[in-house]
Amino acid sequence: MRATLLYQAGDVRVEDVADPKIQQPTDALVRIVVGCVCGSDLWPYKSAPYAEHPRQMGHEFIGVVEETGPEVRNVKPGDLVVAPFTYADNTCEYCRRGLHTSCVHGGQWGVNGVDGGQGEATRVPYADGTLVKLPVAEDSDLLPDLLTLSDVMCTGYHAALTAGVKPAESVTVIGDGAVGLCAVIASKLLGAERIVLMGRHTARTDLGREFGATDVVAGRGQDGVEAVKELTGGFGTDRVLECVGLKDALVQSIAVVTHGGTISRVGAPQYPEVPFGFMEFLRNLTLTGGVAPARAYIEKLMPYILTGEIHPGRVFDRTVPLAEVAEAYRLMNDREALKVIVRP
Ligand SMILES: [Zn+2]
Ligand SMILES: [Zn+2]
Repeated sequence: MRATLLYQAGDVRVEDVADPKIQQPTDALVRIVVGCVCGSDLWPYKSAPYAEHPRQMGHEFIGVVEETGPEVRNVKPGDLVVAPFTYADNTCEYCRRGLHTSCVHGGQWGVNGVDGGQGEATRVPYADGTLVKLPVAEDSDLLPDLLTLSDVMCTGYHAALTAGVKPAESVTVIGDGAVGLCAVIASKLLGAERIVLMGRHTARTDLGREFGATDVVAGRGQDGVEAVKELTGGFGTDRVLECVGLKDALVQSIAVVTHGGTISRVGAPQYPEVPFGFMEFLRNLTLTGGVAPARAYIEKLMPYILTGEIHPGRVFDRTVPLAEVAEAYRLMNDREALKVIVRP
């Protein structure tokens, strides 16, 4: 089958790889209908050293079950399914706590004999725990919305949930990428009254307004901080959702949160140290967040999509065929596209 391989920074190729096969009785084989490129794929795309055995890329996909191992009960051939960005058994102690990213049997797509999501098919470990059946056909217009349940919508929701967003509160969302925009949707779902979106790309922040942002702040650094303070009577917002992953964004988060407030970071941190010291102690700040256990939120968020209450799939602004996946990476890396669907 054809799959996406990242050889090194800037070098993405579509090549033949071994066809996936059932290896464990709990496996399923899934033919991928739609995959996509993630903001987190851009970190290796920017910096990975040359790899002789390149990694299969992609961790967000919807597909059709083609074959199941003898112990798979919850899905069957022909089912349209969505997968979260890590696989999980959905039965261990961590999964029962809703922390599927810590699953004792869980793992990542694209490594250790498991295929990636930017290819024609993949073997899905722990299919009963990992996959969630979709109640639509594979040509449904809702597929882009449902594809966000693999990662970005669930990650945005994780940010809002772990920050403790409650009705009538104020929230700042830092970052106008797909996760930041989904964090706006999630903040609105949880009842936030004021949602300040910090971002510099007008097309993206305009979409953020449609998703529920009440204010947009394009300024960065001290200018941005002062703009948020001005909007909030000098106090800053109750919650801050940091959806970037760079240290500057965390510093900005600390500057715009109110005393006693909470910052949740869901942007994968590209820095080792957190500037959370004595001054933050004096302000009684809480820092939370982390990698989103997407699997824990899929069933919860899907009804909002099926009823049309939310349209997170609007973060996808381009679609490319699998053969042109390298162009998808380039478009996103050069910020010419927000998020790109890849169709095998
Ligand atoms: Zn992702
Ligand atoms: Zn588990």
